[in-house]
Amino acid sequence: MLSLPGRRAALRSAVRAAGLGVAGAAAAGLTAACGPGRPAAPPAAPPSAPPPGPARPARPSRAAAAVPRRFAGQPVEIGHGPRNRPEVALTFHGNGEPAIARAVLAEAERGGARVTVLAIGAWLDAHPDMARRILDGGHELGNHTQRHLAINGMPEAEAYAEITGCAQRLKRLTGSIGTWFRPSQTQYATPLVRTLAQRAGYPHVLSYDVDSLDFTSPGAAAVIRNVTGTIRPGSVVSLHFGYADTVDAMPPLLEELARRKLRAVTTTELLTT
Ligand SMILES: [Zn+2]
Repeated sequence: MLSLPGRRAALRSAVRAAGLGVAGAAAAGLTAACGPGRPAAPPAAPPSAPPPGPARPARPSRAAAAVPRRFAGQPVEIGHGPRNRPEVALTFHGNGEPAIARAVLAEAERGGARVTVLAIGAWLDAHPDMARRILDGGHELGNHTQRHLAINGMPEAEAYAEITGCAQRLKRLTGSIGTWFRPSQTQYATPLVRTLAQRAGYPHVLSYDVDSLDFTSPGAAAVIRNVTGTIRPGSVVSLHFGYADTVDAMPPLLEELARRKLRAVTTTELLTT
């Protein structure tokens, strides 16, 4: 059994062994932002293609059975939760090297946090076991489109296929289309994309009010500053799997949240009164 520092070092070596320095991630085409900016995942299978590979039966769990809920009194697009409770939601763009995703989840769990992962459908196709890993950790799993293209600029049919393509993967892997939808390459959805998300079964679109900018690989200290400088009760924080800085930022970030008595909970918990 490794000591805590030993485990962390082992995780970092796993990440390094996977060739995931900043340059490695960029070379692997893993750079991806939730907000506007750089393009994301390389084009994968078209969203209308059937999900490849045999379906893997998901172990039944409370989280897996969850379906999107309508939260009374909340707008269609949710940017934050109630400001009068000491809770925040850490939300992750689900893409990139699984070793990094697993390291982030392990750090979250070590710090007592439950997070929300918005997974890209093509990522689930490549790493179907990640869906179960996320749910088994007590986290939430949602839809971040099939290919993480600039969805706000897409024709209606194509944008809808991006949403339903990911939803189909989630349904097949977990029995649910996931609890949340977040549009790709934008902080806010257009009215059309909101309508399409609702048509696909998501009563709300999940935005955020705190941007960690971790996808720019600014160093862990900057990621922590970006979050702690603006976070407050009710905040929804945008973070990304796929970047080593995020792994390094998690323990001190969670320590700082604990110092401020802010609990990191799932988005559903954040919004449930
Ligand atoms: Zn994203």
